Order: sequence, then C-alpha cells, then structure tokens
Amino acid sequence: MDRFSLSFTEALCLGTSLAISGLCYYLYRKNKKTVDKLDNAPHINIDGKLKDTLEVTPGACLQYAVVEGVVKPAGEPLRSQFHKDIVGVLHKLEVREHRLVWTSYSNIWSDDERVLHKKVSMVPFLLRGLDETAVRVHCPLQASGLNMEMTYEKFHQVSHGFFDLVGQYLSGVKLKGQLEIEEMLKVGTTVTGVGELMLDTDGTLNLRPPSDGAQYILSMADYDTLRNECKVATTVWKAMTIIFALAGAAALCWVGLRYYQHQKLRWERDKERREFERQWSEARRFPVQDGENNQENICVICLSQPRNCILLNCGHVCCCYTCYQALPQRRCPICRQGIVRVQPLFLV
Ligand SMILES: [Zn+2]
Ligand SMILES: [Zn+2]
Repeated sequence: MDRFSLSFTEALCLGTSLAISGLCYYLYRKNKKTVDKLDNAPHINIDGKLKDTLEVTPGACLQYAVVEGVVKPAGEPLRSQFHKDIVGVLHKLEVREHRLVWTSYSNIWSDDERVLHKKVSMVPFLLRGLDETAVRVHCPLQASGLNMEMTYEKFHQVSHGFFDLVGQYLSGVKLKGQLEIEEMLKVGTTVTGVGELMLDTDGTLNLRPPSDGAQYILSMADYDTLRNECKVATTVWKAMTIIFALAGAAALCWVGLRYYQHQKLRWERDKERREFERQWSEARRFPVQDGENNQENICVICLSQPRNCILLNCGHVCCCYTCYQALPQRRCPICRQGIVRVQPLFLV
C-alpha cells in the first residue's frame, strides 16, 4: 500500500493560509499597539505653556504625544511645478506607465502599471500652534499616514501607428499612456503629529520618531479620525487573522481526515490478510491436490504463483493473494467488478 503523503494543493493551501494568518496577526498586533498608545498619549496644545510643561518633564521629553498644528516652512518653501501659486514643504512627482499585458494562461489583456520616475523633495518645516510657538518636525518621510494633497494629474495618451500595433501584438505589451501626478503637503495645512516630543537645549521644540519603535504618525486627519482609522484597521486585521486561521484549520482537518481514512484502510487490509493466512494455514493441515502447481492454475498477473484466492462477489479465481494485495484498486482484474471480500481457495 502507498505511503501517506501531502498533495501539492493541500501543502499549498495549508502553507498559504497559515502564512497569511501569521502576517495578518502581526499587522493586527501592530495596529492594536498603536491604538493603545494613542489612547494613552497626552494630547498637547502647541502654545506658550508647552515649553514649561516639557521643562518639568524628566529628560524634557514626552515619549509619545499628540500635537496638532499648521504647516510652516523653516526656510524657503517648495513651489509646485504646474501651479506657481501653490507652495509646500513636501513635494512628490511621479510618472507611471499604464499598459496592457497579454496573459497567455487566461487569454486576456490585463491592466498593468509601473513607476517610470519618482522624485520626493522636502524642506525643513514646523507645526505652528495657536500663538507663534512652533514644533520642528523631524524625518517626515519616516512617518506613516501622511497622504499628501494632489496638486496636478494628467494622463498622456499614446497614439500608435500601424507598425506599432503589429509590434505590440507580437510582443504582448500594448502601451496606453503615462500618468503624471504631483502631490504636495501645502503650507497652511493642519497636520496631526504623533511621536516623541522633546525640548532641545537651545529651546527648540521637536517632534521626531519615537525611540522605543512605536509608530510615528503625521496625518492631515484630526486625532479622532486618526484613532478611528487605526481602530478600523485593527478590526479588519483581526477578522482576516481569524478567517485565514480557520481556513488553515479546515485544511489541517481535511489532511487529518485523509490520513485517518488511509490508516483505516491499512488496518482493514492487515486484518483481512491475517484472516486469509489463518484460513490458509488451517486448510494446509488437509492433503492438498497436486493441481496447485498446475500450469492452468497459475496466477494471471505474476505468472509464477498458484491461484489461491476467490474474489467475491464476482467469484473469479484468477490471481494469487500477493498479487491481489498489490492491486491499485479493489476491482477484479477479469470483470472489473468491485471486490467486497476475498476467500482462500482450497483444492482437495
Ligand atoms: Zn500472482
Ligand atoms: Zn470478476
């Protein structure tokens, strides 16, 4: 009997569901930690009292605090390449190529895009509070949640000649065009910053990535929206973890069930073999007819052993017990009828 082994599909389903479940759990824990930290983080106003608060805080530093202020450049701001009146502190220009790619296994053209050019520029900036007090923002590109405002978007469609079209059909890639996008964090935008807030020795206030590895956030949304977004993300990742863990458990149960059925069949065959051997040894106590080694009584499969079993219910006597055990399916090799039982054959 074949040894039990996992099929490729079973191994793929089991491995994929457990790996995705693990990844979702990691993201759930990360978001949950951020929500807990946000709940416990002090919400601080940027005003004249902030320096006094930090001066009396150990290390002149708050590990994780929430501040809200208006973006103000520390020096000369950046200017939009397409609207000269728009100024900002972060600038992103991206050119994406859109194309259709022929997929041979599904026989369809599918959309595909790739980034041809990406450039991010920034100038130092501050978050200004209700009065002239301002907090300098460090490493804004390391922060998560900062979706900048789109200031320009244009799709440049490509026109094709006859030879281009022929070339595209031969290569399996059709160019649709290029999308040019400009995004900016504009001067005057209200930003919520969450991170390590500290007072420097020269008296400047700074917001920077937390030294304990907690999530550094800069967002154009207010604190409540930001917290709700994190909470929704936590719920989604938790649900995904459970769904993929259940899928993994289902795949594991399926493999377990298959293993049990395999073992059960093995036990049944062993039991049948023992019963056959018992009946055979009992029969050997009586004189056996010489016809056992007769050429006409030779097993039709191995052509060497005598036929010594009756396949039931069809009743054919065509093979030896060893060959019967080696049959890939329990079907009679003569009439293809299913074998319900096997009985030893005694010629006396
Ligand atoms: Zn045989
Ligand atoms: Zn038969």
